[in-house]
Amino acid sequence: MQKGTINVKTENIFPVIKKFLYSDHEIFLRELISNATDATEKLKAMVRSGKSEVELGDLSIRVVLDKEAKTIRIIDRGIGMTAEEVDKYINQIAFSSAEEFVEKFKDLDNTNIIGHFGLGFYSAFMVSKNVELFSKTYKKGAGTKAVKWECDGSPEYTLDEVASRDRGTEIVLHIADDSIEFLDENRILGILNKYCKFLPVEIVFGEETVFEDVEGSEDKDGKPETKEVKKPRIINNVQPLWKKTPSELKIEDYESFYRELYPMQFEKPLFHIHLNVDYPFNLTGILYFPKVKRNIEVQRDKIQLYSNQVFITDSVENIVPDFLTLLHGIIDSPDIPLNVSRSYLQSDHNVKKISNHISKKVADKLEELFKNDRPSFEEKWDDIKIFIEYGMLSDEKFAERATKFILFKDTEGKYFTSEEYQTHIKLNQTDKHDSQIILYANDAVAQFVYVEKAKERGYSVLMMDGVLDNHFIDMMERKLEKTRFVRVDAESIDKLIEKEESQISKLTEEQQNLLKPIFEKDLDSTIYSIQFESLSESEQAVLITQPEFMRRMKDMQAMGGGQYSFMGNLPDQYNVVINSNNPLIAALIDDQDETHKHTIAKQLVDLAKLSQNLLKGKDLADFIKRSMEIIH
Ligand code: ADP
Repeated sequence: MQKGTINVKTENIFPVIKKFLYSDHEIFLRELISNATDATEKLKAMVRSGKSEVELGDLSIRVVLDKEAKTIRIIDRGIGMTAEEVDKYINQIAFSSAEEFVEKFKDLDNTNIIGHFGLGFYSAFMVSKNVELFSKTYKKGAGTKAVKWECDGSPEYTLDEVASRDRGTEIVLHIADDSIEFLDENRILGILNKYCKFLPVEIVFGEETVFEDVEGSEDKDGKPETKEVKKPRIINNVQPLWKKTPSELKIEDYESFYRELYPMQFEKPLFHIHLNVDYPFNLTGILYFPKVKRNIEVQRDKIQLYSNQVFITDSVENIVPDFLTLLHGIIDSPDIPLNVSRSYLQSDHNVKKISNHISKKVADKLEELFKNDRPSFEEKWDDIKIFIEYGMLSDEKFAERATKFILFKDTEGKYFTSEEYQTHIKLNQTDKHDSQIILYANDAVAQFVYVEKAKERGYSVLMMDGVLDNHFIDMMERKLEKTRFVRVDAESIDKLIEKEESQISKLTEEQQNLLKPIFEKDLDSTIYSIQFESLSESEQAVLITQPEFMRRMKDMQAMGGGQYSFMGNLPDQYNVVINSNNPLIAALIDDQDETHKHTIAKQLVDLAKLSQNLLKGKDLADFIKRSMEIIH
């Protein structure tokens, strides 16, 4: 028997390993099963390439829980290790990398660390008071006897030859008293389902009951009778969809895989992207576009990150571009460094490249969908719009690519590309300064009157009622030259798009000054300001507009744009526009009955308020009462 002391630089890393990763003790199982998988895959590769002629046989990895003995065993039939290899890989290499790992992280606040890194074999000591490792190499000849290694969590270990046993490695974890939660079958099943669901080698844990037909039997309906049979329970799907060739797959395959990934997601995805890259980095995966709800926050973190089919994490911020965290699906890449902190990930070169690549692929796919089947793209538009806008707002390159397929929808439900729309409005919506004015509404009901008026003038009005539209409009104004977005109720219809010809006012300044106090009388001057304009005679006598600039600032502030918070709580601001050319206004000048004059002025203002949905409570009640009196 060989006894020895693991070459320790740090006095004793075991207590540190144990304390460490407090919330993540469960990953020991992932680490050990990953090792077993690697050992199995190595053997398969060796046989495939003719380097070995061993009989592979059943290669399943078994996880065995023994509550009485308080052990968990992980058994593989992979390449195994000789005594010399155990000494080299377990005592030296694995130990020193675990030691290095602990050194690196022990001073950090571990809640900030990615929490999903490969501590490797020694993670066994997070949950065990004693670990035995039995191994028999696939090799034949001298020095290939089966071995047993044992360590109780101190730097001392024993290494022994043992009687002949099956090829491969068996790890026996003697579960520590403070980790008995792992002796629960459901707990282990949960961990296996989380991390090992798509491993490339079959993982067997316990048994399950299945119903099988009894051969030759018939029940009264003529169907074969069934019997209960116990079968080994296989945890994983060894050939997950993302590893298959896209051309061999049907849309149904993607949809059923989606259900497998997200059993609680009832809605079908809108479409998917199958990623397959092998240069300059390795990446496979499938991304799904879900139907995005209005509350985008709750939908994040659905993308699962795998490394060689081993689940790593489902919080992928900093790995995929922010806007893509709205997608669902899987990304599998051995090239994403996992044993590092998040802040490091952000600046990692590889991660950046991967992130850029995914963003490009997504843009390509959207463009392809748009080009190949515009009607179906338009059909999906309302659901993907938020996602594309988010992408454009947060990723300059994506924004550039997306200009080809971004759509504008007008109040009639018709869709235009940005270019098409500019041509569409060029003739009628260019103002006297040669700027194109894009009119929009963000509440079809509240702004109905204004939209109708604009349409009467032959103007087109866009529907901009998405959660991100405010920001999107800001961005588009910066991108498009000589183009302004103006909400339909920002000005009186004549001023919305200022043309050369302007009306001459029928009221003198003096007359305006006489009328102003009458209108001002009961108005809250912090919210409303009076303005005389010479509009066409047929235009309403009084109307209320909400200046574009102030309203946008307020919208931005409401959305929590940090840069606006210095302004305090912005009040609503409205203009009360008095059309000096409307005959009712002219009549007010001549009205000698002061009470009547005030009643009419008030009535006109209230009507204007009403059409902006601003007349409420007592004001509304007064208005109704006054209207009744006028009718009488
Ligand atoms: P890593 O897997 O990152 O190399 P580990 O600490 O998990 O680090 O393991 C160290 C080494 O021990 C592995 O590289 C492998 O050579 C060997 N090893 C661990 N588990 C097994 C196993 N089940 N079968 C064969 N070799 C193993």
